[in-house]
Amino acid sequence: MKRELPIHWGEMTREDILCVSRDVDLVLLPVGSIEQHGPHLPLDTDSFDAMYMLEEAVKRIDGPRPPILPTVSYGVSDHHMSFPGTVTLRPETLEAVLIDIGRSVATHGFQKLFICNGHGGNTSVLNIAARKLKRETGLLVFVDSGECMEPGKKGLIETKNDVHAGEYETSTSLANRNELVDSDAIPGQEMGFPHPSMAFNHVPPFNFAWDTHELSSTGVLGDPAKATVEKGEKLWESGISLLAERIKIVMGMKGHL
Ligand SMILES: [Zn+2]
Repeated sequence: MKRELPIHWGEMTREDILCVSRDVDLVLLPVGSIEQHGPHLPLDTDSFDAMYMLEEAVKRIDGPRPPILPTVSYGVSDHHMSFPGTVTLRPETLEAVLIDIGRSVATHGFQKLFICNGHGGNTSVLNIAARKLKRETGLLVFVDSGECMEPGKKGLIETKNDVHAGEYETSTSLANRNELVDSDAIPGQEMGFPHPSMAFNHVPPFNFAWDTHELSSTGVLGDPAKATVEKGEKLWESGISLLAERIKIVMGMKGHL
């Protein structure tokens, strides 16, 4: 029986990697977090979703497919530490891990790395690591920190400032891991900002280093009571198709700009 080439880096043999690297110069990397997601969602939501998105996007690519590296499951989650279950890396630890992964794939001949990041707290570290890897190895690093999911939220997500374990994230979890959502534990909406101009959706943004418990006693930022499976399915469909499109764009580019 002819063995089918796996899409996961970890399931490939070293000969598979050698073979793939002749056709494809891109590698995909999911990055997430292990952190409290309210009383009702699993701790690994961001990590699971980053891998889920990449797996679904890669299924939509014909011909040689870029391999998906194992997930970097831990992220920078210090702002969630006052809730049980959160495990955080220091920003410098995550940066060092990413740089080592980037150096490794560059050593094996790959020229591009596409990071699918499921957790907003990682974003600034990923962008710094991307820049450092470019300087040091020439690796071209793309970072998607939920941008592909944004268009799907318009007209669908009703809750303002819905960023964590709320309407959006509970909907996507109901759609891809219904069995792990504790619907009986969904809390009421309870969040506040130190000043209205500091709300996440304020224009122009007024950024500050918040801890989740300072904005919400439930650890939820948004309204999970408005979540539905249908919303989640629509969000995934639009986000995955845009991600697949962007991966194809990157695959069609030369290794340098
Ligand atoms: Zn999350």
